[in-house]
Amino acid sequence: MPRIFAYIIHRSGMFDDSGAELLAAAKRIDPTATPTAIIAGWGPNLDAACSSLQTSFPEIWKIANEALAYPNAEVVRHALVSILPAGSIVLVLHDHFGIDLAPGLSIKLNAAFVSDVLAIEGVEGNFLKVVRQELGGQVSTHARCDISTGAVINVRPGAFKPEPDVTAAGEVVDKSSSVGTLSAKRRYIETIVAEGGDVDITKHAVLVSIGRGIQEKDNVVIAEELAEALGAAVSCSRPVVDAKWMEKSRQVGSSGKTVKPKVYLACGISGAFQHLAGIKGSPFLIAINKNPKAPIFQIADVGIVDDILEFLPLLTEKVRELRGAAAK
Ligand SMILES: Cc1cc2nc3c(=O)[nH]c(=O)nc-3n(C[C@H](O)[C@H](O)[C@H](O)COP(=O)(O)OP(=O)(O)OC[C@H]3O[C@@H](n4cnc5c(N)ncnc54)[C@H](O)[C@@H]3O)c2cc1C
Repeated sequence: MPRIFAYIIHRSGMFDDSGAELLAAAKRIDPTATPTAIIAGWGPNLDAACSSLQTSFPEIWKIANEALAYPNAEVVRHALVSILPAGSIVLVLHDHFGIDLAPGLSIKLNAAFVSDVLAIEGVEGNFLKVVRQELGGQVSTHARCDISTGAVINVRPGAFKPEPDVTAAGEVVDKSSSVGTLSAKRRYIETIVAEGGDVDITKHAVLVSIGRGIQEKDNVVIAEELAEALGAAVSCSRPVVDAKWMEKSRQVGSSGKTVKPKVYLACGISGAFQHLAGIKGSPFLIAINKNPKAPIFQIADVGIVDDILEFLPLLTEKVRELRGAAAK
C-alpha cells in the first residue's frame, strides 16, 4: 500500500476539523494506515498548527519557508514536489485553496487525480474506488482511480466524519531544508476580510437557513419569525445573497461562512456541495423541501417534504405554543 499524506490547509495557523476529516478519508483507503500530515507556512503560527495536529497524526511534516508566509498554491506545489516520495497518495481538502493546489500537483507528481471525493470504497488491486458527485449533486459517480504511480485526491469538506484524536503525541519532522529556494510567477497581494454583518451566524447553536425556495424577499420574514421563536439566527444559501434578499454575512458555504451549529434547518435548499461545505461539526440536519428527490435529503437526519411557505409558519406557531406552555 502506498504511503498516505494529508496536506493541511490553514489560515495563519488556524484550521477546523478538516485535518481529522482527511485522517478519516485515509483510514477508508487503508484502515491500518498511519497517515502523515504535511503543513506549510512561516512563523510562530506554523509551530502552533503543528502542535494542534500532534494528537491526530502520528507524524507531521513541517515546511517552514518565508515564501509560504501567505497563501500561494504555486509555491506550496513546488515545496510538496520536493519532499513527497514517488507513488504517494496525497489527500487535499476540496476548498478554494485545495482546488487550486491539487490538479497541478498530480501532474507534477505524475499521479492520478480525482476531485471532490465524498466517499471511499477501498482499494482493489491497483485501483482506489471512490464516489464523487456530478451535475450539481444529481448523479453519484463510482470511479476507479489507478494508484500505481500515486494519486492526489480532493476530498469534499464535511463528507467524512472527523476521526477522533489519537492518544499518542505525533512527531514533528522538519522538512524545510529539503525544499530549497521557493519562487512563483504568482504573487500574493492582500487578504480582504469579509464584513462582519449585524449577526454572527458562526456563533449560533441553531440556524434556520433559507435557500432559493423562499422565493422572494418578502418571505424572509417567515424564517425570521421561526428563528425568533427558536432563539436561532437566519442564515442562507448563495442565491439568496445574489438576489439581495439577505446580506452576504449570512451566507453559508464555500464562498460564504463556515458554521458549526448543533441544529441546522435547511429550508428550500437543494444541498449543493458548495453550500454543504460550510456546515461543519455534523449538526442535526433537518431539511424541508418540496422536492422529495432534493439531494439534501441524502444527508438530512430528518427530511420533510413540504412547501416551506406553508410549513414554516405552522412550525413557528407550534414552537410558540410549546414554549408558552413550558413557561407556565
Ligand atoms: C465557486 C462557487 C462557489 C459557491 N459558493 C456557494 C456558497 O458559499 N454557498 C451556497 O449556498 N452556494 C454556493 N454556490 C452555489 C451552489 O452551487 C448552489 O447553486 C447553491 O447552493 C444553491 O442554492 P439553493 O439550494 O438555495 O438553490 P437551488 O439549488 O435552486 O435549490 C432550491 C431548492 O428549493 C426547493 N424549493 C423551491 N421552492 C420551495 C418551496 N416553496 N418549499 C420548499 N422547497 C422549495 C427546490 O426543490 C430546490 O431543492 C457556489 C457556486 C460556485 C460555482
